[in-house]
Amino acid sequence: MFPQRYLVLCPISIETMPILHFYPGGKFLQASTAGCNFDCSGCISTVIVREMDPNSKAMKEMSASEVIAEAKNNDCLGIAFLMNDPLASFLTFLQVAREAKKEGMLVGCSSNAYFTEYSLSQLSPCLDFINIGLKGLHDKAYHSCGGRSVQPVLRNLKILYQDGVHIEVSCIAEQDNRQEILSLARLIADISKDIPLQIMRFIPLEKADPAREISIRDAESLVEELKKLLIMSTFSIHQVLIGSILLAHPAEKSLFNGIFMAPWVLKYLPKR
Ligand code: SF4
Repeated sequence: MFPQRYLVLCPISIETMPILHFYPGGKFLQASTAGCNFDCSGCISTVIVREMDPNSKAMKEMSASEVIAEAKNNDCLGIAFLMNDPLASFLTFLQVAREAKKEGMLVGCSSNAYFTEYSLSQLSPCLDFINIGLKGLHDKAYHSCGGRSVQPVLRNLKILYQDGVHIEVSCIAEQDNRQEILSLARLIADISKDIPLQIMRFIPLEKADPAREISIRDAESLVEELKKLLIMSTFSIHQVLIGSILLAHPAEKSLFNGIFMAPWVLKYLPKR
């Protein structure tokens, strides 16, 4: 979709993705196009995923080498594709990623990681970091987004780890998926103790059912349970964060000092 057309090309801090344990504070050129391979209820990028007109003047056409030049002009360490999924513009992203690697730059993305084995084999050699947004561990969670099963994502998680890509996993906490997240934490720990898990609190956007939102207190208690479980079972995942309530918790805040928080994130942060 939208080949070589971008809605956003601007420098960001890597934590915006969010990637929290790879080149902290590093400046990257954010690349976002429009559209997505999934259709998730409550998508925080809904405007650029569902509502962009392909002919919109907001979309800027740029070749891969122009994107690389833009990154260099802004003293960026590399390219970070986020806000919509790189799978929506896979060939465009692949071309930029390959050119960036030739120039010695870093490349990463936020993705649902629903790659086929072939497409991942093309992309993985160019990837340095990825935030994998897991929808859940049951196929039902993937059916509701338009996918078939969680299995391709779990396979890709292992492949990317074996390929040496820095991985952070994020998952949305909502009313009925506490046990699923605990199982996910065990599964990640079995792959590596060094993979951070980010827990994001569900925010009911658009037509998403507000009843799915969990309270801050419940999100906190989930994180506490995850920490105990992980410490007791594997001493493994040492970073468990609550993405959307970070500033409500002084203990977590120190991790985020100096990090840019987008206005749309700040809007949903609870009042302190
Ligand atoms: S995969 Fe991400 S960007 Fe795509 S629809 Fe789902 S939440 Fe939105």
